[in-house]
Amino acid sequence: MVKNVVVLGSTGSVGKRALEIAKNLEICVKGLAVFNNISLLEKQIRIFKPEKVAVYDENAAEKLKNNISDLNVEVLSGIDGLCELAKIDYVDIVLNAVSGMIGLKPTLCAIDNGINVALANKETLVAGGALVMQRAKKSGVRILPVDSEHSAIFQCLQGCYNKKDLNRLILTASGGPFFGKSISYLKTVTKEAALKHPNWSMGPKITIDSATMMNKGLEIIEAVWLFDIDPDKIDVLIHRESIIHSMVEYNDNSIIAQIGVADMGLPIQYAFTYPDRCPSIVEKLNLASVGTLSFFKPDNETFKGIEICKAAIKIGGTMPAIINAANEEAVKLFLNNQVSFLEITNIVNKTLNYFNATEVNSLEDILNADKLARDFVRKNIIRWGE
Ligand code: MN
Repeated sequence: MVKNVVVLGSTGSVGKRALEIAKNLEICVKGLAVFNNISLLEKQIRIFKPEKVAVYDENAAEKLKNNISDLNVEVLSGIDGLCELAKIDYVDIVLNAVSGMIGLKPTLCAIDNGINVALANKETLVAGGALVMQRAKKSGVRILPVDSEHSAIFQCLQGCYNKKDLNRLILTASGGPFFGKSISYLKTVTKEAALKHPNWSMGPKITIDSATMMNKGLEIIEAVWLFDIDPDKIDVLIHRESIIHSMVEYNDNSIIAQIGVADMGLPIQYAFTYPDRCPSIVEKLNLASVGTLSFFKPDNETFKGIEICKAAIKIGGTMPAIINAANEEAVKLFLNNQVSFLEITNIVNKTLNYFNATEVNSLEDILNADKLARDFVRKNIIRWGE
């Protein structure tokens, strides 16, 4: 089990749960980083007494310095602050639970400093998968998945001694708030409706991604990198109850599933205790009270996220970074009531068709592709919806 951790994104839903898990396991929290929620960060600092903290927003960082001047805690800011936290040398694992592309650089910093990463930030692998996995291999660093589906697959793969025995991965998806709805219904859905996830309570960006199925698409890309598997060997299955977190099919057609309550505490704790397990504050699952588990084929005609992402990872190079950036921007526009729900994946698809992918050799290549895609989406805002 790990002894010392850093939590990047400590005020988000995964970060908050991670602190509860760490507290229960008596793991020391040596660093905390947030985007700008300094009031909650201050409470966390007073409880966990980290050595260093980082606030992405510079003004908020200054305010925090004043508010905690009675404490002996170093306050860093900006992306460099996050990166500095990701390389405290005696830390066993950095949990990266920030939202969006800003998570990529701190992941690379931890890797280059030989620190294992528990990864809840999917953009890191979607946009920078080639770079991240290649550098992790080089520095002998472990990337432990904290996304519930990937943790499930990772757990199901523990008995896999030969990769050729693997047939396919089955990613489960709740289907989000609009499961079973038609295109004509989706034309007028509101942001409030899209933000109501049936089973998981998460941040707004990922909740919208669940509604468009972009979340599942991005998870396919994530799985390609984490498990070094062909995208055509990854299937998606709608499973409304979110009890089976994903499955692995072996070549004898035996399927192994990981099952449990819908609580991010499970994948977080497994990343902290791997390869061991230990008692948890996560609730026991009572299957008799669940009663029935249901499964459906995803409706890829109505929800385009999965096919866009599969196309992007097959094209390769900078394309996953391009569609990831376009999606982040499109979700922002939707949350600002500037585009409709169906336009989110239309924008991402148009961006995919507009750009040619180039090779990824450095972080700059990724950040450059990311910026071009964002500019493209913003510049064309008046055209969206035509
Ligand atoms: Mn997930």
